[in-house]
Amino acid sequence: MSQSMMRALRLTDWQSTPELSEVAIPEPQGSEVLVEVTAAGLCRSDLHIMGSPAGIYPYDLPFTLGHETAGRVAALGPAASGVAVGDPVVVYSRWGCGACWQCANGRDNACARTQRTAHGAGLGRDGGLADYVLVPAARYLVPAAGLDLVNAAPLTDAALTSYHAVTLSLDKLRPGSTALVLGIGGLGHMAIQVLKAVTAARVLAVDVRDAALDLAREAGADAVLSAQDLTPADVRAELGPDGATVALDFVGADATLELAAGSVAQGGDVAYIGRGGGELKVKPGLIPYEVTVRMPTWGTLPELAEVVALARTGAIHSEAEVYALDQAVEAYGRLKHGDVVGRAVIRADG
Ligand SMILES: [Zn+2]
Ligand SMILES: [Zn+2]
Repeated sequence: MSQSMMRALRLTDWQSTPELSEVAIPEPQGSEVLVEVTAAGLCRSDLHIMGSPAGIYPYDLPFTLGHETAGRVAALGPAASGVAVGDPVVVYSRWGCGACWQCANGRDNACARTQRTAHGAGLGRDGGLADYVLVPAARYLVPAAGLDLVNAAPLTDAALTSYHAVTLSLDKLRPGSTALVLGIGGLGHMAIQVLKAVTAARVLAVDVRDAALDLAREAGADAVLSAQDLTPADVRAELGPDGATVALDFVGADATLELAAGSVAQGGDVAYIGRGGGELKVKPGLIPYEVTVRMPTWGTLPELAEVVALARTGAIHSEAEVYALDQAVEAYGRLKHGDVVGRAVIRADG
């Protein structure tokens, strides 16, 4: 491998397996910053992207996967400032237009104009499953000094997306409240920790896998239930007859959404987060009155800084299964089959 080339896990065709190829190391222009990748997390949404037929995602192929990245600043474009070569950072991978009403309010995650274009690292633009990743500006980098970078990578999506979903319901998660967490994977196990760290809610975790329920207990869940044949009545027997103040669905399948709608308390919140593609029906009789239904995506940059601060206190921690970059396809296979406990993370130097 020559000095100006690097490895990158690229999606070259829709409905196909990504390929590890050799590409040129990008040179930062203007305000861009080049980051040498230490670690990058694998997400279920990557499986969704690579498994989709052409036309579902507004991305041009090929591009490098990976939207959960931690590393060190390697080079700055001539107009970049605010970071220095060698700085440990985590990458905020959802890049907004910077001009719409959402971006103007600091909500790049919900940018109103980039949803139908490439919109971030590993999301149509080259991502972190490579030796280096190019970031448009230093503002998308959050300082990560003092953190283990392998464990820090999942903070940028698994923890951030969970934190954002919890934050949107924070007002209801008061002492005496309850939270139902459906699906204890990369995001769910972070959500439990976030709920315990920043709210007073009693947390019930649900998954079909025994290993995931063990992980939920370790993450601090007050109670766990197997999703097998689980009914809203079972949830209410555990959380009390009012039901769950907030139901967070990290699966997003028809069955989990039905369970969330049937278990949420009158006036509570349902958050549809997992990309399971299920349908949540809203009509009287199917969902209690005064319920707020949300479909959050990612989190904001300020929230990523808060997540990093929370990780620094030790209050949240990602359970990582570590792989080398040339094992990424194998690791995606394990993720697809539900065999990953916590988050699969690729170490770039592995
Ligand atoms: Zn993701
Ligand atoms: Zn925007």
